Amino acid sequence: MTDPSTGPRLRRALQGIPSYKPGRPAAAATDRPTYKLSSNENPFPPLPALVEAAHEASRVMNRYPDLACGRLVGTLSDRLDVPPGHFAMGTGSVALLYHLLQATCEPGDEVVYAWRSFEAYPIAAQVAGATRIEVPLTTGARHDLPAMAASITDRTRVVIVCTPNNPTGPVVTHEELADFCAQVPREVLIVVDEAYLQFVRDPAAADGLALYRDHPNVCVLRTFSKAYCLANFRVGYAIAHDPVAEALRVCTPPFAVSSVAEEAALAALACENELLEQVEVLVKERARVTEGLRALGFDVPATEANFSWLPLGADTQAFARACEEGGVVVRPFDEDGCRVSVGEPAANDLFLDLAGRWAARAR
Ligand SMILES: *Cc1c(COP(=O)(O)O)cnc(C)c1O
Repeated sequence: MTDPSTGPRLRRALQGIPSYKPGRPAAAATDRPTYKLSSNENPFPPLPALVEAAHEASRVMNRYPDLACGRLVGTLSDRLDVPPGHFAMGTGSVALLYHLLQATCEPGDEVVYAWRSFEAYPIAAQVAGATRIEVPLTTGARHDLPAMAASITDRTRVVIVCTPNNPTGPVVTHEELADFCAQVPREVLIVVDEAYLQFVRDPAAADGLALYRDHPNVCVLRTFSKAYCLANFRVGYAIAHDPVAEALRVCTPPFAVSSVAEEAALAALACENELLEQVEVLVKERARVTEGLRALGFDVPATEANFSWLPLGADTQAFARACEEGGVVVRPFDEDGCRVSVGEPAANDLFLDLAGRWAARAR
């Protein structure tokens, strides 16, 4: 952000703030297919039942939606055995993270998270006027929870744990996170970001909801954007005890979730089995991509999400360009590495082919 010396005065916290870089779409080519593997989206077209539910709901676009998002909250409450009052609904779980930080942080308060992790975290922390405390990932691109616990000070208000971690892929284990929750002071909010929950197969993975039941300072974030195919409709939720849930609802602008989004989310829950079958296809594809990349010599960490991480260091941008020239857009992060989403099988085939050519040239 520029620093205008004249004109309306903006909060100093906004100076030098990085902007969110979305995964780019693939440029259309006439001679061959191109694929966007840069935003961790569900590559399957939405099921007809979701499209129909949204279409039907759009007939009342002249009316405000239900402020409480009551039907969706009711359905989630029954399914997850969580009281309705412990939910806050928002325009995606990222919006809820912004509201959480707004609800907890005074200027100069500290927000702790692993790095590298989800690129929305530093932006959200800075918008809130908070100080970012980034704790380096450890071996295997995993969260270093003991180091994160050790970094907590009197100024710490929030610790974010992203499991599986975007963009590297590993989960934290339940044992690790339970130990961590036992150590963190009760005044500090622990946010467990479970955006990729439905892709997790490791039986030792952390169960954020179980920890929320045991700890009044644990808040779980979930989304309909990934496994449920609704990234464009912006619907996510937080589960937290009071007073956090109540504060979140206060900080959320009224009518955040449209009835089109709410009805589509309800339809997604109604045909969850079909969606989870798609997820299972992607989980199998994930194993194929990961093994393929490792066989080519890439040092890919374990992943429980719908993407893989290639720690390419100084080659990061060149690798991303080579993939794009071949018709696959991946997501490069500075000089750290590339994240590649698991796509439909044809996209994964092409990506593995391009990665193979890169590896052959690099030898
Ligand atoms: C994709 C993603 C989300 C979901 O964001 P929405 O705002 O719900 O679309 C949240 N956290 C992480 C780590 C993600 O990768």
